[in-house]
Amino acid sequence: MEINGETKNYIILGNPIAHTLSPAMYNTAFRSLNLNCIYTACQIEPENLGEAVNGLKALGIQGGNVTIPFKEKIIPFLDGVSQESQLIGAVNTLYRKNGELWGTNTDGIGFIRALQSRNFAVQDSPGAVILGAGGAAKAVAVALVVAGMKKLCIINRSKERGTVLAEKIRELGGEAVFREWNDVNIKAALQEYSLLINTTPLGMVPHIEKGPQIDQKWFTPQHFFVDLIYNPRETQLLSKAKAQGCKIMGGLDMLLEQGVVAFEHWFKEKVPREAMVRELERWFA
Ligand code: NAP
Repeated sequence: MEINGETKNYIILGNPIAHTLSPAMYNTAFRSLNLNCIYTACQIEPENLGEAVNGLKALGIQGGNVTIPFKEKIIPFLDGVSQESQLIGAVNTLYRKNGELWGTNTDGIGFIRALQSRNFAVQDSPGAVILGAGGAAKAVAVALVVAGMKKLCIINRSKERGTVLAEKIRELGGEAVFREWNDVNIKAALQEYSLLINTTPLGMVPHIEKGPQIDQKWFTPQHFFVDLIYNPRETQLLSKAKAQGCKIMGGLDMLLEQGVVAFEHWFKEKVPREAMVRELERWFA
């Protein structure tokens, strides 16, 4: 594939961004379909987000993605957002619509597809505890409730974001409680729920040793631990859980699935899924 005057640009915005595997995954997909497109990563400072989005519009960027910490903050700067993003309140995918720059969200559906690939039946599960209440947590929580999960326990550092997310889930007809982030609440949540999902960046490279501090004594083989972090592939939280006999799933499964959905959105053609999987595997070989 040759970059030339007709090459279409796709971009991911985030901070930090050096860890991202999205350029590797999407450029592989472009190459395998012989699409004249290129995908690159941009680290931007929070105070420059509006200018950056205006730049994307002015430059005619075709689409891309948004990651930590901009999934919610980007919404006011876009020309519009899809129904999925309105429901979730966060954007992870950018696309062009009638010449405008719009946002949608593929994290939620990607997360559900990843769980399904592990034979986890959301509608049969009594509930889940979610650590975090940011953009990814919103997508995961909304998708779980829409998929039929009855009860969620949101544990978050800041009370405001946690209560807002719990309230959103109740508005959608789910049962949700907010609990402050402390040992007593985490222990109680692990006694009540078997599925725990870490949606915070705690434990992500380069600070892999700074994962959520949860006492391993509370882990049992009935627990299923999910970490949305995909770098490292297996976080310390997941390694500890695995050592206690728990089932685990890292963020790579969701990265792939949300990427497949985004690709379908952009190109409306068959997604080169196997090539994307091989590329992601290569990074961790
Ligand atoms: P975000 O919107 O910035 O939200 C971050 C969340 O983590 C907030 O709830 C925040 O709590 C909490 N948090 C941050 N630092 C913390 C700390 N030191 N102690 C306790 N809580 C802390 O970020 P995001 O977009 O949701 O992304 C979160 C993570 O999910 C990132 O690691 C991202 O890479 C990962 N992710 C992975 C995928 C995938 O496909 N695998 C998809 C989406 C996201 P406060 O409310 O108190 O600030």
